[in-house]
Amino acid sequence: MRRIYLDNNATTPVLPEVLEAMRPYFGERFGNASSIHHHGQETRAAVEHARDSVASLLGCRAAEIVFTSGGTEGDNLAIAGLTSEGDHIITSSIEHHAVLHACKHLEETGCDVTYVPVDGRSLVDPDDVRRALRPNTKLISIMMANNETGVLQLVEEIGKIAAEADVHFHTDAVQAAGKVPIDVQRIACDALSISGHKMHAPQGVGVLYIRKGTRLEPLFYGGRHERSRRAGTENVPGIVALGKAAELAMQSFERGEDKTMSAWRDRLQQGILAQAEESGVNGAGAPRVPNTSNVYFDHIEGEAMVISLDLKGLAVSTGAACSSGAIEPSHVLTAMGLRSDRARASIRFSLGRQNTSEDIDIALALVPETIARLRELSPAYRKIAISS
Ligand code: PLP
Repeated sequence: MRRIYLDNNATTPVLPEVLEAMRPYFGERFGNASSIHHHGQETRAAVEHARDSVASLLGCRAAEIVFTSGGTEGDNLAIAGLTSEGDHIITSSIEHHAVLHACKHLEETGCDVTYVPVDGRSLVDPDDVRRALRPNTKLISIMMANNETGVLQLVEEIGKIAAEADVHFHTDAVQAAGKVPIDVQRIACDALSISGHKMHAPQGVGVLYIRKGTRLEPLFYGGRHERSRRAGTENVPGIVALGKAAELAMQSFERGEDKTMSAWRDRLQQGILAQAEESGVNGAGAPRVPNTSNVYFDHIEGEAMVISLDLKGLAVSTGAACSSGAIEPSHVLTAMGLRSDRARASIRFSLGRQNTSEDIDIALALVPETIARLRELSPAYRKIAISS
């Protein structure tokens, strides 16, 4: 069976060029980047080359790049590292749990947090952020792109509000990096996190951009790695891979591959909507990253859909989370005001650089037939169909 992977917001496959670039650092180039001998110099040069590449991707200086273990660590480092007891933090209700749970933890340890709402398209209103400012506000953390809907927030406007109020601004750009160009100067953020495995580098590596002159309290204490901002021997193969993935992402923008991806995503979305009645796009009408489409199909269970499609070789996902044995609908979709049954009936399709036009054709054949089959089995849908 041919397997098609349209769950690239969960993780992406490592691109062959990225694997090739990192391979020597598992073998003959094994040195500790802090060692002063030949082996250490070799890996130090590779780490610094990767730092330059990531800095070019984000439009910052190499010295402002801190390598981390991924998006979760970057988010936690920014949030905990830029605030202290008694501070007020502004974030949104649709952030990833790496931000939400970090904020919840700080609430327990003496910070105040405001969770600004979103509209029906999952957009934060920058005026809500402005209105939430208090004299003790220290940090605004609003994501650049949402992992469920792909919707892009108005981060440049929020950056201006933060700068005017002299408050730190962090943005979680994990789902934006490699998909849309990022320029930290335009966003005017002090901190921005990205993750390797969402952009075709491996799992377990990421970056926190931290603006020069910004005081950051580290999460870990140990050696003076990463200019004392992140102690721990560098994950050299992962860092090399992330550097290569950043270079490939920049080349892909130059070649306009993001436009091709958004055309494929739109073809998939329109084709599905045309063939499946009582369906619609979550976040429609808002700017989105080119790879993501989140679609509700009324009268189906999202989990049943994921399993049925998986049996046919197509991997997609729901934003649902398993909590205390029950399946909870995505907090992002419910924060947008979706009814819980509609949130449960939503499926995320997310494309990656490995996907082909043929993958879209196959998905377009599989999805509508699966919806029709699941609805046939749904007593609620049958009742509506019979009475109409
Ligand atoms: N932030 C967002 C928006 C994400 O989508 C994810 C992962 O899904 C993370 C943070 C966490 O990143 P990581 O898996 O690298 O810890």
